[in-house]
Amino acid sequence: MSAKILLIEDEEKLARFVELELCYEGYGVTKAFNGREGLELALSGNFDLILLDILLPELNGMEVLRRLRRSSNVPVIMLTARDSVADKVSGLDLGADDYITKPFAIEELLARIRTALRKVSLPEDEVLTALSLRLDPKRRSVTVGNKPVELTKREFDLLHYLLKNKGLVVSREALLENVWDFDFDGGTNTVDVYVRFLRTKIDEVFNIKLIHTVRGVGYVIKDE
Ligand code: CA
Repeated sequence: MSAKILLIEDEEKLARFVELELCYEGYGVTKAFNGREGLELALSGNFDLILLDILLPELNGMEVLRRLRRSSNVPVIMLTARDSVADKVSGLDLGADDYITKPFAIEELLARIRTALRKVSLPEDEVLTALSLRLDPKRRSVTVGNKPVELTKREFDLLHYLLKNKGLVVSREALLENVWDFDFDGGTNTVDVYVRFLRTKIDEVFNIKLIHTVRGVGYVIKDE
């Protein structure tokens, strides 16, 4: 069955062009021309992926994303005319999966769509544990000794990746590549910042030593 894509974009010419190309690739496409209508459709849960413009009438893309993420983990690729680091960071912090700057080559968009859809189809729902921590990818929940830990999407994904590599030292570059998943120009200290967030919420609160620093290399989760 072909994936269903919701395209939320107010530039009708661009929307029609992208729709044509996506249909040609075999995707099912539904268009919305403003944020409010887009959010309503997105919340219907009928889509496998959402392409979301940032500058939209009625409700901007960031707000659409913020509201959507309260109840949905559907992959979202943000589209924007601005190549602004601040937009990238806030979009990703709000839980966007990827980001593409207009004007883009349709081949690049198609490649990113394939990547985002592939990531979802991976059998990644195995419950992972370390020390007294338990991460359930299906429920997107984390507990330590049965007490819940509230994490943002990015924090969760970082922890998930480290847990999948439990016992292995993972470099900052590998984390950037696999958790951030695109050419992020925030640099590798972004990883350090997010590891600090995780330690504040987990290691410090529960007084455990979960994430270890390997100086000059990266991080490792140890089960001892
Ligand atoms: Ca727009």
